[in-house]
Amino acid sequence: MGLSAGKIVFGEKEGRYLPKIIREPDEENMQIILKACSGKGFDFPANRMAVFGSEPSFHTYTGPYRSISIGYALDPLIRHQAASGGIISAMLIYLLRKQHIQGAVVLGMSKSKPWLTEPFIATTEEEILEAAQSKYIISSVNEILPQIGAFEGKLAYVGLPGQVQSIRILQQMQHPWVRNIEYVFGPFYGNTLHFSSIKSFLKSNGEKDYRQISKLYFRHGEWPGNMRVELLNGKVFQLKKFHANYLIPFHIVKNSLLCTDLTNEFTDVSGGDAWAPVYEERGKGFSMVFGRSAKGEALIRAMEAEKWLSLNPLDLETSIAMHSHGYDLKKRGAFIRMRLMRMLGKETPDYGYRLSGFGISRFLMELVIDSLFLLLGTGMARWLVELLPLSFVGSMFEKSRNIWKKSTKDIKRRQL
Ligand SMILES: Cc1cc2nc3c(=O)[nH]c(=O)nc-3n(C[C@H](O)[C@H](O)[C@H](O)COP(=O)(O)OP(=O)(O)OC[C@H]3O[C@@H](n4cnc5c(N)ncnc54)[C@H](O)[C@@H]3O)c2cc1C
Repeated sequence: MGLSAGKIVFGEKEGRYLPKIIREPDEENMQIILKACSGKGFDFPANRMAVFGSEPSFHTYTGPYRSISIGYALDPLIRHQAASGGIISAMLIYLLRKQHIQGAVVLGMSKSKPWLTEPFIATTEEEILEAAQSKYIISSVNEILPQIGAFEGKLAYVGLPGQVQSIRILQQMQHPWVRNIEYVFGPFYGNTLHFSSIKSFLKSNGEKDYRQISKLYFRHGEWPGNMRVELLNGKVFQLKKFHANYLIPFHIVKNSLLCTDLTNEFTDVSGGDAWAPVYEERGKGFSMVFGRSAKGEALIRAMEAEKWLSLNPLDLETSIAMHSHGYDLKKRGAFIRMRLMRMLGKETPDYGYRLSGFGISRFLMELVIDSLFLLLGTGMARWLVELLPLSFVGSMFEKSRNIWKKSTKDIKRRQL
């Protein structure tokens, strides 16, 4: 959409958020669009070599890395304002203050429609902080590619794995609109939700009109934070993050289930939540950080030396165990789902690698999981869950997550 010069738009952002072709792009433009679209595939091994070379360490689950750490921003304001440890916002603010960049491509909330997200180029520290925190509804950072291309000055870019992959393809094509992107950062990525999740959350709280939303947060307050909706009439609905996860099976964007990149493998530096009881109990905000490219690694080391970041090294096996449920979803589940789809004659993305050799029990488990996704995604199931108290549904989902984490804990040792 971002490359189409207005010929492709996203219709109905409060609905299915599907691209709509207004006018057919010309042949040359269409070739570029298709080449840069990561939805149909992205060759992981080839792009790994092109972006990082063979120098960094590598694991199929984590992608290339020079360091793995648990960390946080030492500025309490950044840490508090952010989703996890504030690593991403801190890097952007540091680069801006040092004048290594003049702007940062981030995803904020729309001013005119505060229930929707909006990508923009932040040029001040305040704007970067305003755009901090994760947005779990479907969004399209790369729709501002023309603005990125027209920006005068160097940029840092923040995006989800599919968006980052497109930027990497465009960089290799030497497309003029990405020439000024100096740094590529991104959060880990489990899944995204349709906008229907917001409508459903409101309905569960007895409200019908999402246009009454004045503020929408997904990670408000102390880590791991809360989903929080503020309405124009002063009402506030809030649910802790682990309970708000109940929305996932009912409203997940199905494409998330075909993504095999949990840790944003093609960024210079990526950050996720430091999921482990020892950190979760402490609150405050902790990130897991992957320094990947030489440039990204140099940046976080300089920030550590200048007391911007606290970083404690983490070994590969522990880092994988901390996200075992995420790797199970992306590096086992996604490959089984794609295999099942191909058996049904459906097309699947080509990532240039396939993982296989899973036991029969994992296949059976996948059938159960996928059936649940299909069943819970129906209008009837969504309607039913809206009748139940959120405290009950939320705690049920928190318990399921803990069971899933426990059952996948030794994922690396099982050597797929
Ligand atoms: C959709 C989604 C799914 C995630 N799933 C997981 C997961 O399964 N496991 C896990 O450990 N972590 C996950 N994360 C990452 C986690 O929520 C934090 O974003 C991450 O730890 C970075 O924290 P931080 O404090 O360094 O970031 P912050 O300092 O808060 O900065 C976050 C940056 O990300 C940008 N951003 C936020 N949402 C989006 C978006 N939807 N698209 C593009 N850019 C965005 C913001 O503009 C901001 O610049 C997910 C994040 C998102 C957005």
